[in-house]
Amino acid sequence: MSNCIFCKIAVEEIPAEIVYRSDSVVAFRDTKPAAATHVLVVPKEHHESAAAMAVVDAQGLADLFAVVGEVAAVEGIADSGYRVLTNVGHDSGQEVAHLHLHVVGGQALGPLLSKQ
Ligand code: AMP
Ligand code: ZN
Repeated sequence: MSNCIFCKIAVEEIPAEIVYRSDSVVAFRDTKPAAATHVLVVPKEHHESAAAMAVVDAQGLADLFAVVGEVAAVEGIADSGYRVLTNVGHDSGQEVAHLHLHVVGGQALGPLLSKQ
């Protein structure tokens, strides 16, 4: 995808604060952290969602989640706990249309959604 910011980070065309890199995955700090620790775990290949990636590359999706565990260990939040989430589509508020797993922790996170 020529105009995708996360594709560009994946090939180091634009900079990011990388915390993990492999042949197929890159993880970097979110520029607007929502918690003390906020890392985005991203497949280098462009996929629009986890569900879309599951259809064409199930092993790749499993590998992506395995990286979550590695990132949590490196960031020192494996024992204290953390949250993994991925936004999909308009109602989620998704800003970047390239699959990314938000890994947030380093503090008590509270409920997932505020009750209305
Ligand atoms: P989402 O709303 O789930 O699409 O999340 C996109 C996230 O990417 C937001 O939390 C942004 O703060 C973050 N973000 C956008 N551009 C960058 C960038 N260049 N480097 C790191 N994080 C970014
Ligand atoms: Zn992309």
